[in-house]
Amino acid sequence: MKTIYVATTNKGKIKEFEQILSGLSIKIESLQDHVTNMEDVEETGVTFEENAVLKAKTYAKRHNLPVIADDSGLEIYALNGEPGVYSARYAGEEKSDDANIEKVLTKLGEKNADDRSAAFVCVMAYAEPGEEVLTTKGKCQGTITNERHGSEGFGYDPIFKPAGYDQTLAELGSTVKNEISHRRKALNDMVNVLSEKVSG
Ligand code: IMP
Repeated sequence: MKTIYVATTNKGKIKEFEQILSGLSIKIESLQDHVTNMEDVEETGVTFEENAVLKAKTYAKRHNLPVIADDSGLEIYALNGEPGVYSARYAGEEKSDDANIEKVLTKLGEKNADDRSAAFVCVMAYAEPGEEVLTTKGKCQGTITNERHGSEGFGYDPIFKPAGYDQTLAELGSTVKNEISHRRKALNDMVNVLSEKVSG
């Protein structure tokens, strides 16, 4: 079975990867658990694509392994796509989920539901040393609530209500989230791309 190394230090994301890929003939391991020191790659890109490719390429070359890296975040249309690639550090370098949520709620103020549409976006990049990098993209559309609801998940989950649901991702929990998430969609497409690659 092929092993692919996931380059993220975010425990919430690794858990999602394992849940989504369970049952497939690709084994996922955390790169951080496999190598002695997984030093950060600075996310200098201005798009999700640039950051995902930069991370996958750098780690694959550095450790001589097949690596998947992703870059993801929240785009709020009324805020011109903010927080975007700055999602993790929107309210400052300490990367506090709570402070980030507070900033979004303050910026949106009393705007009504029509002006609170948003999407989670995920770009996934797969790199093997010396080979062309493959990318896929997934989106999950929804709206930003007026206050926090629920305690599951991470990041902006407590204020994101996916289209077609009456609860936030933090209330809906991991089973529903893993069926509809941006990461799920990007990863599904990546699995298809990789199967085609393997079957030549
Ligand atoms: P990354 O680790 O550079 O991809 O940054 C992703 C940031 O976007 C996270 O720290 C969260 O703030 C936000 N984010 C991405 N995916 C999700 C999700 O599934 N739920 C909630 N927040 C997310």
